[in-house]
Amino acid sequence: MKRAVFPGSFDPVTLGHVDIIERAVPLFDEIILAIGINLDKKYMFSLEERVRFLEETFKGEPKIIVKTYNGLTVDFCIKEKAAFILRGLRNTIDLEFEKTIGQTNFRLAGIETVFLISSPGKSHISSTVVRDIKKHGGDYSILVPDAVPNK
Ligand code: ADP
Repeated sequence: MKRAVFPGSFDPVTLGHVDIIERAVPLFDEIILAIGINLDKKYMFSLEERVRFLEETFKGEPKIIVKTYNGLTVDFCIKEKAAFILRGLRNTIDLEFEKTIGQTNFRLAGIETVFLISSPGKSHISSTVVRDIKKHGGDYSILVPDAVPNK
């Protein structure tokens, strides 16, 4: 069973995430969308909302499940018997950031990170931009799946 964990805050899920996840479906038998719980971080959407948006977005895809976790991502992967971590790359900043984490996770637990580069026209999308637009009362519907309410 080829199982991957896609860890993230998903605050909220965007069409950038959806692009990566949909393209990863043929590569794995199961993908766990894993929302990391970090009590020190302030989120715009509650944990329950972030779980719900992901579940609604992927309800027609039996290979995808949504979970939450505390602690190290590699410990969660071991617990879930997932040999792979899935991450998306938008640009060289993502690459530099992800490189050290991916190398560390491999050294810690032998878990390989599989990177997919965003599709053309998707690399400008980020949860940060969505949150900024929301904060200022703007319309962010072109950046998120239908499950995420606009405004
Ligand atoms: P984190 O808080 O861990 O950065 P995010 O929810 O912001 O979590 O991102 C999770 C993953 O999704 C990261 O690998 C990030 O690079 C990827 N990602 C986010 N937006 C895009 C996008 N537009 N195209 C490709 N990958 C993306």
